[in-house]
Amino acid sequence: MSDDAPLGDAPDPDSKSGVTGEEEPVAVGRENRQPPEDSFAVVGNETRLSILRVLHERASIGDRSEYSVPFTELREAVGEPDSGKFSYHLNQLLGEFVEKRPEGYAIRYPGKELVRTVESGAVEAASPAVSEPTDASCYLCGAPIAVAYTNGYVSAQCTSCSGALGFDYMPEGALSSIPAPPAAVGTDVDAAPEELLNRLHGRFCHRARMFGDGGCPRCGGRVDATLRACSSHDDSDGHCDECGTALPATVHVSCEVCSEGGIVPPAAMVSHRTPFREALAAAGVDRLGYDAFAVTAGWPLHVVDGDEPVVEYDLPSGPVRILVDGDTTIRPVE
Ligand SMILES: [Zn+2]
Ligand SMILES: [Zn+2]
Ligand SMILES: [Zn+2]
Repeated sequence: MSDDAPLGDAPDPDSKSGVTGEEEPVAVGRENRQPPEDSFAVVGNETRLSILRVLHERASIGDRSEYSVPFTELREAVGEPDSGKFSYHLNQLLGEFVEKRPEGYAIRYPGKELVRTVESGAVEAASPAVSEPTDASCYLCGAPIAVAYTNGYVSAQCTSCSGALGFDYMPEGALSSIPAPPAAVGTDVDAAPEELLNRLHGRFCHRARMFGDGGCPRCGGRVDATLRACSSHDDSDGHCDECGTALPATVHVSCEVCSEGGIVPPAAMVSHRTPFREALAAAGVDRLGYDAFAVTAGWPLHVVDGDEPVVEYDLPSGPVRILVDGDTTIRPVE
């Protein structure tokens, strides 16, 4: 199949007009792609969102031959009695979000992404919550930690010290701040705080490793990593007023494509590489959860003076340097 169909009255090979007696839309080509800012307009309509949901549900079953939904079946599943109106909305989705196949209509990857975004509730407001203290402990002072959900971020929250992060939008005592949609948090702050803590911090650690390898965990785009060294670091009161963190240096990562990113402890980005992975194992960590985060965020480090952005970790096995220069490179200490 080619996308280079001649202009003019080339016949549509999929056309079966008259067979159903309904007004099926004419397929639009890739040249009619929607710009990203139109994505929300697409799902801003109940009928269009419903079409995507029906097709997405169909696409989540195992057999690829059943992905496609015939026009009439799709219209009935959506519950739109007006065929012309239904056809109009389906037409808005054709091309970028939905494709027409000989057997019917099937959702495309950007359509799935839209449904996932809506269903994960990323745009809904969430009510703040704090758990009872858990068995997990603060990597700064050793006191028990609670799990807080504030402004759409899950934090490990120390019940005793001022925490590692001192930003306005974070709760007092924050040791971490990880974005999570309300649907992913659910009632777990109260019902299963430790599981939530491990799930979210485990995800953070996996994503940090992907950033460390140079690829965006969200879209696969190229990642830029910059060392954020604090010039007048003072963490005697927990976090520093100058940089807002307990670490003298963090890495700012950002996807060049989708802007996904944030601030990450340098060691979290290389915790799957020697000698950090051995140091994690020696600390008794055999899976990525809160403990893995706490160990990597708690290792002492300092910025190495020189022309290059290098930090040095003092691991139990000895000192090791990380060069953060776009890519993240581990370098044995000289
Ligand atoms: Zn503490
Ligand atoms: Zn990205
Ligand atoms: Zn500082």
